[in-house]
This record gives sequence, C-alpha cells and structure tokens, in this order.
Amino acid sequence: MNTPRRLETTRCKGQEYFIDDRLQEYRPIDKPFISIPFNSEKGIEISEADMLMRLNDHTTKYEVRCTKCGKLLFEGTMMEIRGMIIYCTECTVKRKDPSGD
Ligand SMILES: [Zn+2]
Repeated sequence: MNTPRRLETTRCKGQEYFIDDRLQEYRPIDKPFISIPFNSEKGIEISEADMLMRLNDHTTKYEVRCTKCGKLLFEGTMMEIRGMIIYCTECTVKRKDPSGD
C-alpha cells in the first residue's frame, strides 16, 4: 500500500510553495491548482530563493545517498554538502579515459 508522501515546501517572497519533484513544478500552497514549472522564469526564481534558504540554514541536515546503491554517503548542512565532492566508493569504478590526464 502506498502512503501519500507529504510534499516539501519552500518560500519565495513571502509565498510558500509545494515542491513537486515528480511533476517538476512548484505550486503555491494556498493556490495548488497553479503550476509553476521548475524551468519557467518564476520557477527558476523560486529555485534560487530555495537554494539560498538551504545554504543559510545551518541546522537542517541533508542526506546524500548514492543513486545507484542507496548507501548513505554524507550527512550535513547544504553548505557542507556544496563544498564537497561526494561519490560512492562502492559504485565508482575507474574508467579508462581516452583523453588521458
Ligand atoms: Zn553506490
């Protein structure tokens, strides 16, 4: 049985929006029938405000998991995560790069 997942929200200019990753859009929480695609002008504005809010939030910890095996790679604030190159040692295989280096 599927339990409905509560959507994350974010704020931009005093308005709160749902973040719908599945539909790739924002929706004002008081007017959820209005859809704002992530890649629209307004959507990008909200994304930027959201990222800024996350960067300035030093209390919320985010988990970074490997998209392949789901292993927890790092847990920390967005600021910490942004400053790091995080990769999974289990799934990262040394590839032959023809360009060398
Ligand atoms: Zn992995």
